[in-house]
Amino acid sequence: MTVRTILITGAAGGMGAAIAARHAKKGCNLALVDYDQAGLERVAASLDLPESRLLSVAADVSNESATRNYVARTISKFGRIDGFANNAGIEGKLAMIEDMSVENFDHVYSINVRGVFLGLREVLPHMRRQKAGSIVNTASVASWWGLPMLSAYIMSKHAVAGLTKVAAVEAADAGIRVNAVLPGTINTGMMRRLEADTGDADASHADWSAKIPMKRYGEPDEVAAVVEFLLSDEASFVTSSLYTVDGGTLWL
Ligand code: NAD
Repeated sequence: MTVRTILITGAAGGMGAAIAARHAKKGCNLALVDYDQAGLERVAASLDLPESRLLSVAADVSNESATRNYVARTISKFGRIDGFANNAGIEGKLAMIEDMSVENFDHVYSINVRGVFLGLREVLPHMRRQKAGSIVNTASVASWWGLPMLSAYIMSKHAVAGLTKVAAVEAADAGIRVNAVLPGTINTGMMRRLEADTGDADASHADWSAKIPMKRYGEPDEVAAVVEFLLSDEASFVTSSLYTVDGGTLWL
């Protein structure tokens, strides 16, 4: 049986590391991408995988040639890409639209939208050649919501949902599935930074938790479990779907 190869962006972060840990346990080859090199090294060391099964590439997903390079290096080492967790993203700065800098808007757009688009554009031809593959983009409950102070982020995650649907219909007859996972409030560095940005992290944590019907944040592994399912053949008839993992928050 061929060993499956899983490519993960944002692999040094909370969700990416959890997706990596699950697939390492399954015996997959892993290609880990992040622009945080020290974080990548930390995650790679925690996986206890032989060098032959692991590739780490420090790259900025918003950069076209860096994206071409991380995909090319994955193909060169493992020969194929069976699963792609297109996951890297940033939250940007909190501000009302009238106070938001164009720089913040462009920065969030370049990573969360252009980065996801570039990943799709580079990975899809390899999956077409293989006539198989599964992609999970990390969107968010922010793909449906309009939360104040987060316009750039909300816009970007709506765009990720749109890219997911288009990629899914374009690639379905080539044996490729494309879905998105929509996490709610998850215990990672991203929420720590958003909490801190309000000036009172504890109050913000309590506030976010109170809004969740399950009254707690999700853990990164609870999102990784859904990503693992969607990347696997168990989800063989699932494409163009947006999977919420949010403790019941979205449709309140
Ligand atoms: P995180 O900050 O722990 O991880 C994000 C990772 O992406 C970091 O390791 C960071 O270095 C990397 N990254 C950012 N910009 C990059 C770039 N240009 N090139 C390469 N790597 C880059 O946060 P997380 O919660 O694990 O975020 C993962 C994904 O989940 C993001 O797309 C985020 O928007 C999404 N998300 C998070 C939550 C949440 O509550 N934490 C909710 C919904 C969606």
